[in-house]
Amino acid sequence: MQEYFVDEPLEPGQIIELPKEKAFHAFRVLKLNHETVRLVSHNTGYFAEVYTEQGKGLARILSVDDAVNELPVPFTLCMALIRREKFELVLQKATELGVSRIVPFVSSRCVVKAKDEKKDRQKERWNAIVTEASEQCKRNCIPEVLHPLAFHELAGFHEEVSLAAYEGVRLSAASVSRSMKRAPVCGVIGPEGGFSEEEVSYLEAHGFTPVSLGNRILRAETAAIYLCAAVGEAFL
Ligand code: SAH
Repeated sequence: MQEYFVDEPLEPGQIIELPKEKAFHAFRVLKLNHETVRLVSHNTGYFAEVYTEQGKGLARILSVDDAVNELPVPFTLCMALIRREKFELVLQKATELGVSRIVPFVSSRCVVKAKDEKKDRQKERWNAIVTEASEQCKRNCIPEVLHPLAFHELAGFHEEVSLAAYEGVRLSAASVSRSMKRAPVCGVIGPEGGFSEEEVSYLEAHGFTPVSLGNRILRAETAAIYLCAAVGEAFL
């Protein structure tokens, strides 16, 4: 069943006009007509029948969908800026795995630098990726993606469970699963070049627990996906 996020508040019995780009996708791309879709508005899902009338793309709200496809706690992923296609893969997979906020950052060993002049267009693309991924996996909300921050600003995202993935940690010392509990989570993943010792110490000094993701060195994008899956696993 196709899902679309819409801004306007919904209630059963109401008939709304779908936003142009959603109507185009529903009727031109998917050729839906008098089919049921899931519309999400203000974090609530609704079943709706979509149809066209006098050239307009309409949806009749049928009922509330009680399914809430979200983690029970807020989960922030702080992700180092890595090569574009790999960073966009992380946006998509982290969304499917339930993150509520993604904080891109630049650290000393990032090979990719944040480009100020590109940031608005880049943010627009990032939002489109997480929106499409949220619709595909039937979420009730779309993760927030911030503009890239400087490394030291990560301290401001500390949560009750704050984990910094670091390959210098022995698995026996600290792992995601052993660090998890039912509380807001923040996870940090470094760039292709990893974290410097000073960066690991800085994160530790600001309440982040360095954790191992296993004895193999994972690519940054693999590490991010692994971390998100391990956090989600704790709530299944
Ligand atoms: N420094 C690594 C490359 C960094 S991997 C090397 O020696 O080649 C990119 C990021 O993924 C790291 O900064 C870390 O956050 C995470 N990561 C990769 N493998 C990991 C592991 N086994 N345990 C914990 N974190 C890992």
